[in-house]
Amino acid sequence: MIYQRSSALFAAAEKVIPGGVNSPVRAFKGVGGTPIFVKSAKGAYLYDEDGHRLIDFINSWGPMILGHAYEPVITAIKERAEKGTSFGMPTELETQIASLAIAMVPNIDKIRFVNSGTEACMSAIRLARGFTKRDKIIKFAGCYHGHSDSFLIQAGSGASTFGSPNSPGVTQGTAKDTLLAPYNNLAAVADLFAANPQQIAAIIVEPVAGNMGCVPPLPGFLEGLRELCSQQGALLIFDEVMTGFRLAAGGVQERLSIAADIVCFGKVIGGGLPVGAFAAREEIMNYLAPVGPVYQAGTLSGNPLAMAAGLAMLTALHEDSDVFNRIDQKTAYLHEGMATVLQKTGLPHTINRLGSMISVHFDETPVIDFETAKKGDNERFKAFFHGMLQEGIYIAPSAYETWFITDALTYEDLDKTVEAVAKVTKVLK
Ligand code: PMP
Repeated sequence: MIYQRSSALFAAAEKVIPGGVNSPVRAFKGVGGTPIFVKSAKGAYLYDEDGHRLIDFINSWGPMILGHAYEPVITAIKERAEKGTSFGMPTELETQIASLAIAMVPNIDKIRFVNSGTEACMSAIRLARGFTKRDKIIKFAGCYHGHSDSFLIQAGSGASTFGSPNSPGVTQGTAKDTLLAPYNNLAAVADLFAANPQQIAAIIVEPVAGNMGCVPPLPGFLEGLRELCSQQGALLIFDEVMTGFRLAAGGVQERLSIAADIVCFGKVIGGGLPVGAFAAREEIMNYLAPVGPVYQAGTLSGNPLAMAAGLAMLTALHEDSDVFNRIDQKTAYLHEGMATVLQKTGLPHTINRLGSMISVHFDETPVIDFETAKKGDNERFKAFFHGMLQEGIYIAPSAYETWFITDALTYEDLDKTVEAVAKVTKVLK
């Protein structure tokens, strides 16, 4: 495939935008080559500036769970835009989407909307610190919770792709309050509690990790975190930015029957517009201004366009809850197809999957944490990525990402994808 126009557009972008992109992982640095510029998208397909159609396994990194340009969302945005795009004053829409989200997700009484997953996680941590009157937090190596200072310590996703999981600009003072443990390692978490008595405000965790590829929790891991938090007076924060409204209507809390104290959302909840949210039981949420002392705000928070898109998306998921089952089945089908093909090639590999989150690591060691995720052969992944692209399949340009499955994918699309995997991996060394 030829990417003449994308290359020209990227060259122009590089002159005025650092690295030519507004979010690093888009730059293809991890896999080499020129990023693809999108002209439009519909359903499961992207249409790029050079006239190719690609089957999309990123789906805007998750939000497009029902496909691109999903009609009810587009209609809601259009209708709302006619009435004004921002007021900085309350609208009824905010209560409507809040009520629906609370009805769909277990263990939450109140929710506050922000503009991104980063803001949701950042605000959740401040709230946890204010509520518990403690400073320290525990996060897991390879988990990504957005780019706010406290989290850029051994962060996954783009931060790992670029080899700078600890970013300059984060002060030692901030970094010292973020304690690190390996994912799936309960003993390490217990040790941190023992070494920092009465000091840990919260554990923040991706309950199914998706930013070091997909890494599901081992049996007992999340249950153990729940127990430790309850014993130690710390809050358990589930970062469900990726898993929320994807692994079940009620996210991992529902799917694996574990209650978190604070839950963070992003991606699907905004229907493709910039939305994040954090939610908890009333006692915790009432610690927020203007009721309580913990300050958190936003000029565009609860923006009517974003709320209209999010409400249309959540309504669609609420009315057709079989969607979660359908995307699980599609992902299982893809999993089986890829596993059969990869076994035949003899290439060392691990496929991790939970529900509609899936990723391929080119190493046979079971991937259970960041250390084992890093064993994946990156050169092989690069060749795999570019091979798939040549076949018209767009997967994340980094081995540290999960694939995002959309209900708009047909079984024919999945068959084509498996055929492409067969063709591409046959010649991978
Ligand atoms: N948490 C998780 C689990 C994420 O995957 C992401 C984004 N990939 C974020 C937080 C940050 O969200 P945003 O990019 O919307 O700031």
